[in-house]
Amino acid sequence: MSAAVDGCVQPTGPGLPGTESRALVVQKFGGSSLATPDHVRRVACRIAQDRAAGRRLVIVVSAMGDATDELLESLRVLNPRAPAREVDMLLATGEQVSIALLASALWALGCPAVSLTGWQAGVRTDRVHRKAQIAAMQPSRVLRELEAGRVVIVAGFQGLSPDGEITTLGRGGSDTTAVALAAALGADECEIYSDVDGVYTADPRVVRSARRISIISYDEMMEMAHLGAQVLQIRAVECALVNDVTIIARSTFTAGPGTRITEVGAVEDHSLARAVAHDRHVARLALCGVPDRPGVAHRLFAALAHQHINVDMIIQSQSRNGKNDIAFTVGSDELPHAEETARGVGRELGAEAVLAEDGYGKVSLIGAGMASNPGVAAGMFAALADAGVNIEMISTSEIKISCLLRREVVDTAVRAVHDAFNLGRESPLPGSTRAGGAVSAQGRG
Ligand code: ADP
Ligand code: ASP
Ligand code: MG
Repeated sequence: MSAAVDGCVQPTGPGLPGTESRALVVQKFGGSSLATPDHVRRVACRIAQDRAAGRRLVIVVSAMGDATDELLESLRVLNPRAPAREVDMLLATGEQVSIALLASALWALGCPAVSLTGWQAGVRTDRVHRKAQIAAMQPSRVLRELEAGRVVIVAGFQGLSPDGEITTLGRGGSDTTAVALAAALGADECEIYSDVDGVYTADPRVVRSARRISIISYDEMMEMAHLGAQVLQIRAVECALVNDVTIIARSTFTAGPGTRITEVGAVEDHSLARAVAHDRHVARLALCGVPDRPGVAHRLFAALAHQHINVDMIIQSQSRNGKNDIAFTVGSDELPHAEETARGVGRELGAEAVLAEDGYGKVSLIGAGMASNPGVAAGMFAALADAGVNIEMISTSEIKISCLLRREVVDTAVRAVHDAFNLGRESPLPGSTRAGGAVSAQGRG
């Protein structure tokens, strides 16, 4: 039974018959999909239509628009070093606004819905504020609400620690809530909706010729997420890999197949280079003139790890007069804590200077087939050189090459590398046209 209201198909009455046999789907809607009350209404219409089509739905939502950034900005004005517990208490409010508004919008369409906070939905985490890991899912309340025929709306990004404290899962953490719920509920699908219709060969906001990838392996997607492609949070992809959940990344605003993130065997090709990712929020620190003896690097990086600060690139210079420099990068939002820690360790070790500077970005080329092809790195450096971009630091792995750059040249660098490897081409042949781009670029380098 359904009726059209406000352009939406609206189911009538609580719960549809045959609940257990209907597909169970977890859908996550991000901030960009919920920016205004109008957006919330559109999402509600979409959900009501899906329910009318016979699906049982658990919906995970983020804070509206830039709400999380705005909360962080208010806090920065009052206390940039606020206790992490208070930061989590504040940030969790963003998602709570969204769940209540979306549930209310669904009721307005006649669709029975219930909003649940992370802790009500059974998201149990460790004690690490701002970057909590999910320790267990106890979704009994979610199951009860589903059985009662309601659409269950869960606040993403938040959980409860063993001490009864509210924690948050790191930026973009609602993606992880969605995948963890899909795994715990044994859902048929986990759909992540945002303002893009899938995962592209580069951020489509930066590279107009970027191409949608139809299927991508967990490994490549993890690397992309780790290197800055914010379309999915890395921990969500890890959680999907471990629990064998296929993620479908789709657009809230248009219909289309999106991108399937799934296991390696199903990937369409093993191209040399697959995508370019970038991260605009990188800070660089250096301890200059520290003694060249065993244990120095350990002292520094153990102190940073103790503060739960993720260190990315590391370079240690050659020793001169028994001293050397250690430079490393962290996310810009970690700079205040990283600087404090580095200065403490620097004093202890008698460092000649401690440098800390924001204003960097990182551009990375990713592809599972890169490990065995030395021309790829040369091709990337040639593309950057041709674009007049200076490289500040380099790091490589089997599956990626990353370059640290000044933040203002990130867009230029992303486009140059994407073009050099012809990543925007339709239906490229595995390892042929893209390799050609790399080889010719190498020839110039
Ligand atoms: P949401 O608010 O729904 O969580 P996000 O802003 O976190 O959405 O993620 C979607 C954004 O990710 C897109 O607007 C796009 O600019 C960006 N993005 C970065 N890299 C990629 C990529 N490779 N493919 C698709 N989107 C990307
Ligand atoms: N609202 C949080 C953030 O902006 C979580 C999320 O969007 O997934 O990072
Ligand atoms: Mg996101």
